[in-house]
Amino acid sequence: MTPFDGGRMPTNSHLQRGAQRRMATMFLLAAAIGGGALAGRTALPAQTSTAASTPQVSSATGETSASSYAWPVKPFDRQHPVRGSFGDPRSIFRGNPTLRGLMTSRCACSYHQGIDVSAPDGTDVYPVRSGVARIVTPDWVEVDSEGGNAFQYWHIHAAVKVGDHVQARQTVLGQILRGSEHVHLTELQNGKPTNPLAPGHIGPYVDSTTPRVSAITFRAQDAGPDLLPEYLRGNVEIVAAAGDTPTLPVPGKWNGLPVTPSKLTYHVDAYPSGQTMVAETTAMDVGRDLPGTSDMWHTYARGTRMNMVQMGVHRYWYQPGVYLFKLATSFDTHRLKDGVYRITATAWDTAGNHSSTSQIINVHNRKTWLEK
Ligand SMILES: [Zn+2]
Repeated sequence: MTPFDGGRMPTNSHLQRGAQRRMATMFLLAAAIGGGALAGRTALPAQTSTAASTPQVSSATGETSASSYAWPVKPFDRQHPVRGSFGDPRSIFRGNPTLRGLMTSRCACSYHQGIDVSAPDGTDVYPVRSGVARIVTPDWVEVDSEGGNAFQYWHIHAAVKVGDHVQARQTVLGQILRGSEHVHLTELQNGKPTNPLAPGHIGPYVDSTTPRVSAITFRAQDAGPDLLPEYLRGNVEIVAAAGDTPTLPVPGKWNGLPVTPSKLTYHVDAYPSGQTMVAETTAMDVGRDLPGTSDMWHTYARGTRMNMVQMGVHRYWYQPGVYLFKLATSFDTHRLKDGVYRITATAWDTAGNHSSTSQIINVHNRKTWLEK
């Protein structure tokens, strides 16, 4: 469910009705954000952009795999900047803009179900695959094709009607709404959101940037403070802060802001011997589709927020997103004898570019002088 940006609220059925009512206000706020309508809203540009990651000259794989469809804006056969990844967090917090509000307040938080293709306001949007317009709303259109394949195009002023047959590269579905600066593309396979950046989907698409893990941290509870890696015991949540840089620079307000990796893995070695204690384990993988549960806190740790997060009634313009991934929700350190270990986390993109960061930890489960 991503009601504010490319989600499918009309078909969402997993929320209780009461919860839906309570969330309604937030969804309205959220809808405004999805439209990217900056003009006339309260902006607090207190800080200039300090993106979490900088452009990398990198280990590009350079290969473009055979793609099955082209881009939804002209030129169709040239790559466009993607400012939002599949599986990105979309977060609107109810609470105050404080650490407490960020860590504990109720939020409209969900996985981003598609990709955000950067393009100027007013740009014509075309179907990537021919089909029939099945859903037309004031700001998005769904086109169903044969074989259970459907696409949604969000933040456009629709120029088609329900039932219209539309042609890839020919029919104008609509124009990008003022203030949006992007069209959101959701790909559905038999109703299931699918990653358009997976090899063999949108193209041409070359990914020449490498995702980075900036820190590995530990908590006793998801919303709790960090523990010292020097003194870990009992069950701990292991968190990796990670991000990626769009391959093509994004023009406009989203310039320099981070996107999410598509996969996080980790392993644990004894240190310094290097003996494997926990083999390479996949913590999160949205390379093809989303996790089975739609609750994004299943894979994201609290503290995570989207680019230009909203907290309370304000949106915090130009603030880069923070992406904290749960490598393990409740890692039992008793799995390791007391001693020194090294946790290595690796962040991946859909093209296979990846890099790793390690953190030394000390496990102390034996009774110590600290205990009464
Ligand atoms: Zn989007």
